[in-house]
Amino acid sequence: MRILLTGGSGFLGSHLAERLLADGHQVVCMDNLITGRVENIDHLASDKNFEFIKHDVSKYIVVKGQIDCVLHFASPASPIDYLEHPIKTLKVGSLGTHNALGVAKAHGSRFLLASTSEVYGDPLVNPQPETYWGNVNPVGPRGCYDEAKRFGEAITMAYHRTHGIDAKIVRIFNTYGERMRHHDGRVVPNFIDQALKGEPITVYGDGSQTRSFCYVSDLVDGIVRLMMSDLNEPVNIGNPTEMNVLDFAKKIIELTGSKSEIIFEDLPVNDPKVRRPDITKAKAKFGWEPKVDLAEGLARVIKWFKANYKE
Ligand code: UDP
Repeated sequence: MRILLTGGSGFLGSHLAERLLADGHQVVCMDNLITGRVENIDHLASDKNFEFIKHDVSKYIVVKGQIDCVLHFASPASPIDYLEHPIKTLKVGSLGTHNALGVAKAHGSRFLLASTSEVYGDPLVNPQPETYWGNVNPVGPRGCYDEAKRFGEAITMAYHRTHGIDAKIVRIFNTYGERMRHHDGRVVPNFIDQALKGEPITVYGDGSQTRSFCYVSDLVDGIVRLMMSDLNEPVNIGNPTEMNVLDFAKKIIELTGSKSEIIFEDLPVNDPKVRRPDITKAKAKFGWEPKVDLAEGLARVIKWFKANYKE
């Protein structure tokens, strides 16, 4: 297939681009490089099946030639990024999704929206099945991301129902891997970076809030399986192994052999208290489950952070 991948220069987008090329697809990567980076795709630039277009997908999208599939991954995804760019986050999730759906409609292509576990907000049920409607504060600081993605899901289903677009929605849970930015702000790069520099590990709140971390290759495999499936509904992809943030800090100290101390800082507003995917649907519908356990995945990422050390 010839695939339009928005956000293809980001952390996830670049891993997905690599996998799609390895599977024999052609990739048209579109990114405005707000949080994406050219370094993430430098190694793909010489591939004849890869092209890069610098463009903000919140504005009308023009792509020449046939497009068989649109994968809409453009969006800031780290809380510090979407707090810094709330309007751009809302625009890419709403106008950007509308434009990307417009490309799918014009080209008769299938469509996949990168949605998020944030649609569940601060969830009142744990683990979260796809049938849970969520507990989101629309006017809180995270509302710009959560509501943009919820709108994105709504317009994706409307295009499916109204225009018959073969549309899929992946709800992505916390993911980690090589190429996360050192100052990305999310817990995995923050803790690894702090541990490797011997700086204090900043646990927000008392660290009792939980997350479930999925290694990037597992996530990408789930996305590809969903893309190739005939499903037209949201599917959770994430690793169901749940742990609290304080234990996660201790794990990073253990795996890096760091002498860093743990310090406690204020919990961000509306920070979800629990998060864990129910992956029953992905397992049943396309036989997906994660393969890389946390210690193995973190060891790879720690090695990468060491090799790509930055002040
Ligand atoms: N967190 C933390 N210290 C940090 C960064 C994050 O304790 O330096 C916490 C954050 O408050 C949240 C969890 O780690 O409870 C995961 O945060 P992240 O920003 O990775 O993503 P989120 O799951 O909140 O979208």
